[in-house]
Amino acid sequence: MKDLFISETLNKIGEKVRLLGWVNSVRSHGNLIFFDLRDRSDIIQCVVLKNSPALEIAKEIKEEDIIEITGEVKQREEKLFNPKILTGKIELLVDEIKILSKAKILPFSIEGDGYDINEEIRLKYRYLDLRRKRLQKNLINRHQVILFIRNWLNQRGFIEIETPILTKSTPEGARDYLVPSRLHKGKFYALPQSPQQYKQLLMIAGIERYFQIARCFRDEDSRGDRQPEFTQLDLEMSFIQRDDILNLIENLFIDLVKNLYPQKKITKIPFPRLTYNEVIKKFKTDKPDLREDKNNPNELAFCFIIDFPMFEVLEDGSLNPMHHPFTQPKLKDEKFNKEKIINKLKHNPLELLSEQYDFVCNGYEIGGGSIRTTNKDILIEVFKVLGHQEQDIYNKFGHLINAFDYGVPPHGGIAPGLDRILMILENEANIREVIAFPKTGEGRDLMMNSPAEVEINQLNELGIEIKLNKEDSD
Ligand code: ASP
Repeated sequence: MKDLFISETLNKIGEKVRLLGWVNSVRSHGNLIFFDLRDRSDIIQCVVLKNSPALEIAKEIKEEDIIEITGEVKQREEKLFNPKILTGKIELLVDEIKILSKAKILPFSIEGDGYDINEEIRLKYRYLDLRRKRLQKNLINRHQVILFIRNWLNQRGFIEIETPILTKSTPEGARDYLVPSRLHKGKFYALPQSPQQYKQLLMIAGIERYFQIARCFRDEDSRGDRQPEFTQLDLEMSFIQRDDILNLIENLFIDLVKNLYPQKKITKIPFPRLTYNEVIKKFKTDKPDLREDKNNPNELAFCFIIDFPMFEVLEDGSLNPMHHPFTQPKLKDEKFNKEKIINKLKHNPLELLSEQYDFVCNGYEIGGGSIRTTNKDILIEVFKVLGHQEQDIYNKFGHLINAFDYGVPPHGGIAPGLDRILMILENEANIREVIAFPKTGEGRDLMMNSPAEVEINQLNELGIEIKLNKEDSD
């Protein structure tokens, strides 16, 4: 293991150290060679003097070669200080170099922010693009944000529980990714669009406060800023009401910004809670951008949107839940009344509001959630409004409906999308910039070259035959 990162050399003046890293640049003056060594933490200037035993090998090193060096850490003369790097007051007097791995010339420069480089090339060589400082910073900050959330929720009695990736279709409004089963030919798992039903079942299991940094999969048509797989902070709580969830999320984000992004200013605390009708009327969108100064990259205007309609009408005239079918329907200006809700579901479903809430920041929807229906009759009626036959409902959702019979605590949750939140916090224009290995807008991984064809015997094992239309082959 390496003994120290470059940033740690600062307090080693006068000592002999061993460093490992990448050659960032080389400046050769014949028998005097300067090069910068880079590792994840920083860059340090290294000097090979003409009488150094390392001079011959120093002549061979090129940018991006990976090397091991030893030498003495020296204070630089004051006039040679470089304020641009952390280690700008020191340099390393090299007496030994070992080349661990040679590097070809990179297909693009990793200096600077890289926004002007063709993104397809950056994605093809993502492992090189990730050497870029900006992207390393994004990954490190992503790690810090997730770590902060985990600790914060842990301190408040939440436990993180993993739920399956190979599962059964859950309706979250998108198409499922399907995984064929070899042992049960003709049957498929679905990748989770979210852990929705599992987290509700965890409430029935008595977990009370659950969270997960959860990967979600949705097969949606390409829209620039969407990813087929993305990460949510998925959360569910029992014995709560809507405002408990909103207060929790509000406090989490205030603390997160204060601790990790102190340069950012939150426009309004408490976060405004606006009704759907109000924002549609005033801003013509349910994702209003409430920043006071939209040119200020350090402003965060969080708000919650509440009182959504339960259903929307699709182009073909069918009804769709605004959030998902597990959301509790709500009467306008009236307390919860099961009979009245069922009556509305049967006769005027469009008049129902719901216990859905969205979390919005700077004009982006960064999360959504709801208080859930815990009444089996209401849930079945909601599915009927959505066009399911009774038998069909039991086939698809019997596990949840039957579980309600064994006692179900009142519960609700939310799922802020971490990629989008990080994009806003890092002032990036695209979520791909905060994901280590993102896919293109068309769902391709240009580095791994996926999706890809598979061997014919793999298909045979699964009992699958591929039918391609002319327009499908590319
Ligand atoms: N499962 C929902 C979603 O992914 C969030 C929730 O209702 O908690 O949008």
